[in-house]
Amino acid sequence: MKTRYALGIDIGGSGIKGAIVDLKKGEFAVDRLRIPTPRPATPEAVAAIVKQIADHFSAELGDSTSSDLDGLQPVLIVPVGSVEQHGPHLPLDTDTRIAAAVTGAVTDRLAGASRDVLAAPAIAYGASGEHEGFPGTVSIGTAALSGLLVEYGRSACRWAGRLVFVNGHGGNAAALADAVARLRFEGRDAAWCAPSVVGADAHAGHTETSVLLHLSPEVVRFDRAVPGNRAELRELLPRMRAGGLVAVSKEGILGDPTTASAAAGAQIFAEMVDGCARRIEDWCPDDRGLLI
Ligand SMILES: [Zn+2]
Repeated sequence: MKTRYALGIDIGGSGIKGAIVDLKKGEFAVDRLRIPTPRPATPEAVAAIVKQIADHFSAELGDSTSSDLDGLQPVLIVPVGSVEQHGPHLPLDTDTRIAAAVTGAVTDRLAGASRDVLAAPAIAYGASGEHEGFPGTVSIGTAALSGLLVEYGRSACRWAGRLVFVNGHGGNAAALADAVARLRFEGRDAAWCAPSVVGADAHAGHTETSVLLHLSPEVVRFDRAVPGNRAELRELLPRMRAGGLVAVSKEGILGDPTTASAAAGAQIFAEMVDGCARRIEDWCPDDRGLLI
């Protein structure tokens, strides 16, 4: 009589594969986690064990132990944000919050697909030179960010099967393109994506304010929101390049946050998650490593 059964279970982001029920030894073994096989092994009892395993193996890199990842080659999804002014009404870590929330939701979405997926702690600082005129902004610049991303990729790809950065800040794009192109040239399976939406305004306006009202309403000082510069970004870029964002908006806003709402934010956020999840599944990096 067969006593060992390999179960193809999809559990959380870690997607535990090769879980084994050993009836002879009377245990349910997954990696180093061992749980006694229930007697009788009713569907409910097995479901309870599956939940126990799911609780044990996290979809978050920071919550995992090294042994949880032994033998896995997961897709590692890494949010990249910024610490920069977002007008008088949004927190400095707005981009990081959005990138991390999109990463979490995308990880949940992709968990259970054919590969293991893990969400990494965010790289919370970025290239924000255009916001230097405002207190609170901390920019590490394009060169330092690019170097950081290259070293991150070299290290992570020693065990991760695939690496994808989720970029929450447009100013990081040059560093990401540079770093990811290099990682790919070196033979690493890396790419990046941007949670963009059609018709979005550029900075601390309707789009970002709505998403924050959806994700973290407690940190939005909505009573301080005022309309910013609503001209097209490409019209503003020459003045911004010369004098920073403060040269085109003393409030530090491009767009109009006063029209923002949590309902609009929920819709925009869903679009961001759909777009990133689809691009990660399709996996078609362009020559800058950007998923298209
Ligand atoms: Zn932002």
